[in-house]
Amino acid sequence: MTTCAPELLSLFVAYGTTHESPDVERAVMDGLARFFAARPGEADSADDLGRRFADSHMPSGATVEAYLRYLFDDVVPHSVPVHSPHFMGHMTSALPSFVAPLGRIMTALNQNVVKLETSNAFTFYERQALAILHRLVYGRDQAFYDAHIQHTESTLGMLASGGTLANLAALWCARNVRLGPKGDFAGVRVEGMTEALRAYGCQRAVIVASSAAHYSLDKAVDLLGLGRSALVKVPTTHGGSIDLALLEEALAQCEREGSLVLALVGVAGTTETGAVDPLSPMADLAEAHHCYFHVDAAWGGPVLFSEKHRGLLDGIARADSVTIDGHKQLYAPMGIGTVLFRDPETARAIETNASYIVRGGSPDLGRRTLEGSRPAMAIYLHGALHIIGRNGYRSLVEEGISKAAFLARTIESRPELELLAEPQLNIVVYRFIPKALRERVQARSLDRDGNDSINELNQRLQEAQRDGGASFISRTTLRGTRYGADVPVVVLRAVLANPLTSRDDILAMLDEQIALGDCLAG
Ligand SMILES: *Cc1c(COP(=O)(O)O)cnc(C)c1O
Repeated sequence: MTTCAPELLSLFVAYGTTHESPDVERAVMDGLARFFAARPGEADSADDLGRRFADSHMPSGATVEAYLRYLFDDVVPHSVPVHSPHFMGHMTSALPSFVAPLGRIMTALNQNVVKLETSNAFTFYERQALAILHRLVYGRDQAFYDAHIQHTESTLGMLASGGTLANLAALWCARNVRLGPKGDFAGVRVEGMTEALRAYGCQRAVIVASSAAHYSLDKAVDLLGLGRSALVKVPTTHGGSIDLALLEEALAQCEREGSLVLALVGVAGTTETGAVDPLSPMADLAEAHHCYFHVDAAWGGPVLFSEKHRGLLDGIARADSVTIDGHKQLYAPMGIGTVLFRDPETARAIETNASYIVRGGSPDLGRRTLEGSRPAMAIYLHGALHIIGRNGYRSLVEEGISKAAFLARTIESRPELELLAEPQLNIVVYRFIPKALRERVQARSLDRDGNDSINELNQRLQEAQRDGGASFISRTTLRGTRYGADVPVVVLRAVLANPLTSRDDILAMLDEQIALGDCLAG
């Protein structure tokens, strides 16, 4: 005797096999079409949205059709049109349409790649996708890939649900490798940080990166038990990449004060300005100081697809590990990051076995991942790498960089705007200058009060543009521009990653900004 009502059981009939699904399918397709066709409107306030979702009573149940109506009437219209060609403010872009059907396949199959027994082919499929990215970064020979791509004891890379976790996984490896077993000491992974510092005879252990590195590194040093003060932040040049002379000084200082440098982290494409650190000299320094070298290429990694621009990332193949986000410039949907390891043995340092699920010696991916149960997200990566392909990615990357250069040249040609840094990749930072201060900016004689008033104006400008809803550019505050390390500069930040954004869209967005700026400046 079954205990569940037939209506309830009918919810569990496999997707793709029921006669109801055409209706649901139509509701979904119609709802999405309405969203994508809608003209952008004014953004809702956070307060209004909070009130919409303020009922916490447990619902009694509903039909799928009724729920979809609610979703498309009350929620979806209030989400953000990140696909829009006029949305140029964040690293989130339009997606290729094939990811939606791939997502349906992934959720319908509900594979769990933590172990072979719940994923089978998808385990090897994920390893293949990671090996393709490994080859992009490290370019080892065929014999290397033949030996490691499906070898259970080799880890060419790990999937995670984003760059934050990919960086954390990499630095977890770095800590365990650098503070591994020594004499009687069984390694930091067994004995913890206090014993590790004693065994290695140092005061503390630190990670060194530029002040423009992503805030996920702050989380990582915290979680790894090093403490937030253990992230040594080296100032950048005006261009936004790490200042090598100051880096050398910082490393020498660490040595003098008995701090063990666990890892040096280079950034290939900072989140704020897209600047690339000088990776080759950093690799030399990491070697000289015997520290692990990680490159956070969450944003810039796909530049490797472009013969024309990949030179910017010279030295990346010398990194012990490299983070590349799938949900940024690989155009996979949200929730996918990767970390790749030069040495297939590195991830051994975090291996964890559990006899019921991730058995030692087994092909179970969960033995060497930070996360446990995971969906077969590799479907997006594997799919995009195959469908978009090398030439597709090359063209996407080159187009983004070329549009950023176009925007930068246009900004330079307009007296109303000031470019704050020459873009290295596809991110441009600039600001609006009110008429009264243009001469002083051009003569480089702007004082602190003038700068403060420009900051305040640009903040209001960005908010007004965002709330208007016609186009979107983000905003950040830079330090260490040509105005000096102690002068905060509020900038408008354009990210040119959406292939649907045209040069005309860029010009229209600037016109809107200048009109808004003139109006706000009064
Ligand atoms: C986006 C980004 C991250 C973090 O990635 P999430 O996917 O947001 O977790 C890390 N580093 C850099 C340079 C990034 O641009």
